[in-house]
Amino acid sequence: MDIDVLVVGAGPTGLMLANQLMRRGVRPLIIDRHAGPAVQTRALGVQARTLEIYAQLGIADRALELGKRGTGANLWAQGRRMAHVPLGEAGRDITPYPFILVLGQDDNERIMGDKLRELDVSVQWNTELIGLSQEADKVTATLRRPDGTNGTIAAAWVAGCDGAHSAVRELNGITFPGAPYEHVFFVADTEATGSMVPDEVNVYLWREGFHLLFPMRGSDHWRVVGILPPALRGRDDVDFEAVIPSLRQEAGASLSFKACSWFSTYRIHHRAAARFRDRRCFLLGDGAHIHSPVGAQGMNTGLQDAYNLAWKLALVVKGRADARLLDSYEDERVPIARRLLNTTDRAFMLIVSDSWLAGLFRTRILARIAAFAMSIERIQRVAFRIVSQTGIRYRSSALSKTLEGFPDRAPRAGDRFPWLRLKLRTDGPIEDMFQRLDDRSFSLVVVGQPSPPEQALGLGDLARIHAIPVDPANDAELERAQIPQPSFYLLRPDGHVGLCGLRFEAAAVRRYVSENLHLADRHA
Ligand SMILES: Cc1cc2nc3c(=O)[nH]c(=O)nc-3n(C[C@H](O)[C@H](O)[C@H](O)COP(=O)(O)OP(=O)(O)OC[C@H]3O[C@@H](n4cnc5c(N)ncnc54)[C@H](O)[C@@H]3O)c2cc1C
Repeated sequence: MDIDVLVVGAGPTGLMLANQLMRRGVRPLIIDRHAGPAVQTRALGVQARTLEIYAQLGIADRALELGKRGTGANLWAQGRRMAHVPLGEAGRDITPYPFILVLGQDDNERIMGDKLRELDVSVQWNTELIGLSQEADKVTATLRRPDGTNGTIAAAWVAGCDGAHSAVRELNGITFPGAPYEHVFFVADTEATGSMVPDEVNVYLWREGFHLLFPMRGSDHWRVVGILPPALRGRDDVDFEAVIPSLRQEAGASLSFKACSWFSTYRIHHRAAARFRDRRCFLLGDGAHIHSPVGAQGMNTGLQDAYNLAWKLALVVKGRADARLLDSYEDERVPIARRLLNTTDRAFMLIVSDSWLAGLFRTRILARIAAFAMSIERIQRVAFRIVSQTGIRYRSSALSKTLEGFPDRAPRAGDRFPWLRLKLRTDGPIEDMFQRLDDRSFSLVVVGQPSPPEQALGLGDLARIHAIPVDPANDAELERAQIPQPSFYLLRPDGHVGLCGLRFEAAAVRRYVSENLHLADRHA
């Protein structure tokens, strides 16, 4: 075998996967057919869950330094601000990052690429996957090398992070059902003034469509995303000047553009691969699912695909877990992608339909419904959880097991373990639990009861134990998060709850480790 994991594609998804494998002790080969990193900004919304993952990777500070925090979202219709969602408020207590970070995909790729180089892995540019053949114990990949020659390498596993036209998907004969949207999007980086609330995301619903304005670094810098007015569709000479009249017509004269540094139009498809895996090959990111950019979910979803697969693949490659553990990648990520596709599709159709009636519905009824819903704090919080991806959960996964008697309202198996600030010693300070958890290992969080010895878990050196003592400061925080006392939570490396119960039961944990996680016996 030449290598354990071949990562095809060095976009955001491939870079995240390579980073996560490397820091778990598996050195991947990462290739990309392009000559170097992409220069186009493309995606620009970094969600809270991604920032939590960046924090574990040690790159959150750099991202925060380079990006601009969007601390609120506003919905405009008929020249009036109909709704305001204070993201800082809505996400308070949910995540250390209660905002959307506006940071271009190119910057995200640069930060992840720098981290990868720090870990001593370089992307092999100008290297294209052109052939694949799978055998029981390996995949033989044919690569076109920078000098134009072809060669083969044998890899134990192949990760297709190679975008919408994924060669890994096509060479495995996996279909990509879906369709193109008829609308043409445009994206522009502008210097603009107008009714926009500074430092916040501004969504304008027009009779003829919608525009999103994202605050960018620098004063009066806005990224404008929208769909081309019907009259401009089908023309290939459209520039930003051509779009301005329709923007003004809807926004009024107060919207003024001083400069436009980048303008591009693009068409979008909505598709999901029929499978995310074929034996030793996996599909991740745009290779597995593409959808409308409404909600800034695309790049973030690919990053989470990589985060979900990396820890499982690393355990299997290192001989710590049976390959059955990998079945859970598809089981967990396919439903997330399908749901995302359906919701972005529905939201998209609502806000882009061309009909006169739809225009009326959009600017009158939809705006009012949204305004009413968003005035309710509970709905704001639900919306924040969905958009920030902190609400993603895998409750029906084979890796999720909630023991009997556990209260329904409590966070349970499959959920992302909540962000808590607790005393880990009764005489110690209040600490951020997320900073205590190390995503390279499993974590056993034992609440209000004595900690078991490490060998009781059957996880060998793969787990860390965190004991939460009974303390009035902890009581309030646990109550807020609806975590019962006593209880215990066994967290997977990606921060999702694997197993939970009330009184610690060593036998239940050991059974879970062997039957659900398929960890090799010699480590149990
Ligand atoms: C114009 C535009 C605007 C967008 N705006 C947004 C937005 O606002 N919000 C959002 O969330 N998403 C947006 N997206 C989507 C977002 O860019 C993608 O979701 C994201 O790039 C997916 O990352 P990825 O790593 O999975 O794939 P990609 O970024 O496509 O990376 C795939 C990589 O694989 C390489 N590759 C392909 N085939 C091979 C091969 N055979 N061999 C070797 N290498 C190969 C490619 O060169 C590429 O570098 C936008 C997309 C476009 C095109």
